[in-house]
Amino acid sequence: MAEKKKRVVVVGGGIAGSLLCKTFHKHHHVDFTLIDSKEYFEITWANLRSMVEPSFAKRTLINHHEYLPGASIITSDAIEIDEQHQVSTTSDRQIAFDYLVIATGHMGNHHVTISDRLRQFEADYEKIQSSNTILIVGGGPTGVELAGEIVVDFPAKKVKLVHRGSRLLEFISETAGKKVLDWLTARNVEVILGQSVDLDSSSDGVYSTSSGETITADCHFKCTSEPIGSSWIKETILKDCLDDHGRLMVDEHLRVKGFANIFAIGDVTDVPELKQGYLAQKHALVVANNLKLLIEGGDEGKMVKYSPATSAMAIVSLGRREALAYIRCVTMIGRIPGLIKSKDLFVGKTRKQLGLKA
Ligand SMILES: Cc1cc2nc3c(=O)[nH]c(=O)nc-3n(C[C@H](O)[C@H](O)[C@H](O)COP(=O)(O)OP(=O)(O)OC[C@H]3O[C@@H](n4cnc5c(N)ncnc54)[C@H](O)[C@@H]3O)c2cc1C
Repeated sequence: MAEKKKRVVVVGGGIAGSLLCKTFHKHHHVDFTLIDSKEYFEITWANLRSMVEPSFAKRTLINHHEYLPGASIITSDAIEIDEQHQVSTTSDRQIAFDYLVIATGHMGNHHVTISDRLRQFEADYEKIQSSNTILIVGGGPTGVELAGEIVVDFPAKKVKLVHRGSRLLEFISETAGKKVLDWLTARNVEVILGQSVDLDSSSDGVYSTSSGETITADCHFKCTSEPIGSSWIKETILKDCLDDHGRLMVDEHLRVKGFANIFAIGDVTDVPELKQGYLAQKHALVVANNLKLLIEGGDEGKMVKYSPATSAMAIVSLGRREALAYIRCVTMIGRIPGLIKSKDLFVGKTRKQLGLKA
C-alpha cells in the first residue's frame, strides 16, 4: 500500500515562507500547500529603489509559481485554524494539515497581483517626479533609505524627513544615527527629530507636527513600521499563543508553544532579536530541517535549536553607491559598505536562493 504523504501547509510567502517552501516543497513524503495573500513573493529590501526606478521591480516581484513549479498555491488570506487541524481562507477553502508553518510577517502592501504592485511603483515614481518638496515620515531604515534614493536620483528635490525619536536609525547605534544624519544633511535633507506628523489632518500640502510646527510639502511618504501580520490569529486555536505585542510565542525549535505540529518563522515570532529578513531566512532553514526530521519519523530530540542573534547587524543603503554598515558594533559609511549592498540590493542573491537566474 502506498505510504500516506504528510500534509504540510505554509501560511505566508514572504522572505521566510518562500525560502522554506523552496527548500521543502519537492520532498517526496510531503503534500505541500502555500497560502499567501499575494500571488507573488516580494524582495522587500528592494522596494525603495523601485520607487525611483519602477523597472527595477521586474526582478524583485516573483510569481510564486516561478520558483515553486507544480506546487499547490492558494492566493487568499488565511482566516482560521481550527481544532480539526484545518486552515480556512477568505476564498472559502479548508486545507487540512499534519504540519503547519505560520510566516505572516508584517502587514505590507495590499496588492494581490504583480501588475497592481508594478502600477503602485509607477505611481510612487510619478509622485516623486512631479513634486518639488517631498515629506518622509519616519526615520528608521525605510525612511532613511527612501531619502537616500531620492536625493541621489533627484538631487534638485527638497526632501524633509520627520522622525518621532530623538535620533535616526534607533535600532542600531547612536554613532550610526549621527553618521546618517550628517550624510543626509550634507545633501540638503531637512531632518526634524522628536516630532510626529498627523497625516490625517494634513490638507493642501500643509502638515502639522506634534509640537505645532507647520511643514509644507507637495507630497508625503509614510515610512513608519507596519503592524505585525497576526491579527487573523486572534480568532484561531492559537489565540492564546500570542504575546502582548501580538507575536507568536515559539520554543527553541521554533514550534508554537503548546503545539507539537505547528511552527512559526520570521517577523511574526517572539524570538528576542531584531526583526530582519536575513534572520527570518535562518528561521526558515531551521524549520525546514525540523520538519524533514519529523516527517521522516526521526527522533524529536534531534530537532535543531534556533539561537537568537545576539548582536545587531544592518546595512542601510544610501542611494546607488553608498551605504551605512553596522556590523559587530562597528559603524562605517560611504562607498565601501555601498559595494556590499547598494547596487543590486541583494536581489541577485535572493533570486539565486530561490533557484532563479540572478
Ligand atoms: C522597506 C524594507 C526594507 C528592508 N530592508 C531589509 C534589509 O536590508 N535587510 C534585512 O535583513 N531585512 C530588511 N527588511 C526587513 C525584512 O523585510 C523582514 O524582516 C522580512 O520581510 C520578514 O520576513 P517574513 O517572511 O517574516 O514576513 P514578510 O516578508 O512580511 O512576509 C509575510 C507574508 O505573509 C503574507 N500574509 C500576511 N498575512 C497573511 C494571511 N492572513 N494569509 C496569507 N498570507 C498572509 C503576506 O502576503 C506576505 O507574503 C526590510 C523591510 C522593509 C519593509
